[in-house]
Amino acid sequence: MPPLFPKIFTKRHVLGAILALILIGDIVGFSEYRRHYLLSQISTLQQNIQVGKIDKEGLESRIGNLETELQVIQDENLSKSTNIQKQIGEISGTVSALDKLSKADPELLLKYSKTYFLNEHYIPTEITGINPAFTFVKDKILRIHVGVSPYLEKLFLDAKAAGLNLGVVSAYRTFSEQSVLKSAYKFTYGAGTANQFSAEQGYSEHQLGTAVDFATPATADTFVGFNKTPEYVWLVNNAQKYGFILSYPQTNIYYQYEPWHWRFVGVALAQRLYNDGRYFYDMDQREINTYLANIFD
Ligand SMILES: [Zn+2]
Repeated sequence: MPPLFPKIFTKRHVLGAILALILIGDIVGFSEYRRHYLLSQISTLQQNIQVGKIDKEGLESRIGNLETELQVIQDENLSKSTNIQKQIGEISGTVSALDKLSKADPELLLKYSKTYFLNEHYIPTEITGINPAFTFVKDKILRIHVGVSPYLEKLFLDAKAAGLNLGVVSAYRTFSEQSVLKSAYKFTYGAGTANQFSAEQGYSEHQLGTAVDFATPATADTFVGFNKTPEYVWLVNNAQKYGFILSYPQTNIYYQYEPWHWRFVGVALAQRLYNDGRYFYDMDQREINTYLANIFD
């Protein structure tokens, strides 16, 4: 009988082969286990990543919410800040207005009539010289309130640019200068005539330092005919832009008609009177006083 296995295959070979198969099987089995383990780990990692991603989104969402909250807070703060700044501005404005009003000279907008006189001791806060190029008085510097000076200068320059020859022959006058002047007029013209064009109540506006007597070279000596000049017509149409009003127009009941005598009351009030066709001396004093704080603005 032939052997089942060739001679070369002994029992030891078969046993070895079986052992080898078992070993290979083990190795294969271990690899499979390992693969499953790794997949499981990957899966876990993927799950962790997934979890991590969700958390990240959650965090992003929370960050987004926080940013929104932050923006809201910032907006609120900005709004509060703006509001506070606005309030500070309003308070500052009020303080500034009150400060200006406290420093403003109430006499500058008071009405002086036949019954209301400027105190003889009144002196303007500060006066300055008028550019001699715009005066028709030789060897004498005419003076004006410092607040009025730039407006008067601009008026002269614009009148000149319009081809006119406008100047002043009288501006600030002290009470004593006024008295001397009136005495001189009385001496020259007699008391009756002098009172007609040089009464204290009328000319007391000169003591304020804000009134001027305009003239042209031809009318500088007597004022006669000034209301017929193109310079006068220009003043009637433009003086309000520089804060000046005609104190005693032809129809007024407070004083004689003086087309040359103009008083500075501030641009806002002068413009208001001009636009509304109203007259300073007929205006309520309380209404006039609302323009006092900004008279030189
Ligand atoms: Zn005058």
